[in-house]
Amino acid sequence: MSILDDLDLETSKCISCTFCESVCPTLQASDYRAIFGARGRVLLAREMVKEIRNQGKSSLDVSDPFYSCLDCYACFNVCPAGVNAGHVSEMAKSLITHKKFLNKNQEKQVAKMIITSIMKFNSPLGLKNEINSWSYGLHFDENSDYLLYTGGMYQLMAYSKILSELERKFKNETIEKIAEIISKYPSIIKLTHPMYDDNLKKRMDNILKSIYNLLKAAGIKFKYIDDEPYPGSFLYELGYIDDFIEYGKRLKDLFIRNNVKNIITIDPHTYEILKAIYPKYIEGFNFNVYHYLDFLDNLNFSKGNENLVYHEPCHFSMHKEKYNEPIKFICKLGEIKFPERHGNTSYCCGGPAELLYPDLSSSISNKRFNELKNTGGDKIITACPICFANLSKDDTVFDLAEILEKRLNKNINF
Ligand code: SF4
Ligand code: SF4
Repeated sequence: MSILDDLDLETSKCISCTFCESVCPTLQASDYRAIFGARGRVLLAREMVKEIRNQGKSSLDVSDPFYSCLDCYACFNVCPAGVNAGHVSEMAKSLITHKKFLNKNQEKQVAKMIITSIMKFNSPLGLKNEINSWSYGLHFDENSDYLLYTGGMYQLMAYSKILSELERKFKNETIEKIAEIISKYPSIIKLTHPMYDDNLKKRMDNILKSIYNLLKAAGIKFKYIDDEPYPGSFLYELGYIDDFIEYGKRLKDLFIRNNVKNIITIDPHTYEILKAIYPKYIEGFNFNVYHYLDFLDNLNFSKGNENLVYHEPCHFSMHKEKYNEPIKFICKLGEIKFPERHGNTSYCCGGPAELLYPDLSSSISNKRFNELKNTGGDKIITACPICFANLSKDDTVFDLAEILEKRLNKNINF
């Protein structure tokens, strides 16, 4: 089935009940402008398909409504008709990138810049040594067929944070112009590398070391690819499906060349894309995909008296590939608490919009941070680098790996 047929089918199910609007973070953050909400996106996509079917092209302005969608899937979990407005936005972005369906080019240049950099440098911001520097001096087992695959996700945050802060200082048109130039001359993006949040970089590198230490303590042998590439999530989420497939094939070849059979991921985006999405698009992409917590059952942790508030990552609690191991481990560390919005109607940290819509992103992350604080818990626990970078607004926010390593009963030598 073509994307147009898929989009037609998905949007035609909508009965306009508005349930999805009550949970969509971007609707409230955009002052309730309907096209920035879940139902608005579905109805807009329906109109767009109608125009394309009738006239061959659509004349609608669709760029901001679809690119601003967070892909959180909160809407899908409350929709009585089974419509997924997040997936509708993904498909609509795919039509935007296939320029033949719209009267004018509505591709976001910042998105194009990110995609160009991934395809050329295997990293959304062209990072290289900045990705693997955390691993210097650590010992890996080259003969293992288990790979520790960070995908550079934790490492990326210190750089994307500064870029989004810079973006806030300029007009959107200026940013789009700069991004357009960088897309034409991708090496320019490397000029941004000296700009990063030093504290966040050190913190993220230490989180990676905590994960390494936990796996070692559990007795797992694993290798690491020095030049490890980005997992490709942006390609899928921003609608560049052809590039996504080409990139996935590259990843598959890299894993095979390195004799990898088992992949240990450390974040929700990489876990989902490798486990559930690439196998749908790429024949033979059939590695065993794990999360690092899957290997820690034999470790003991000391339990404290604190209330630990868990902010669930959307890709673990609201997407189809549910993963609840963090809850099990948080319960070993203290009393778990949840904010009002949790489980399959959780609330996004706003991070996915950070590079394209920094103001929207910070409005959503402020709201979520306040919700988490209002629980009265002692610590806020995240299990995703994007959530951590967006929600760590004071010193009560921790990545799960940090607490696990600290509370590990260390009767085992690393
Ligand atoms: S909840 Fe589902 S059926 Fe209701 S408006 Fe949203 S997409 Fe349409
Ligand atoms: S995926 Fe999230 S941001 Fe996008 S329409 Fe659904 S609820 Fe709104």
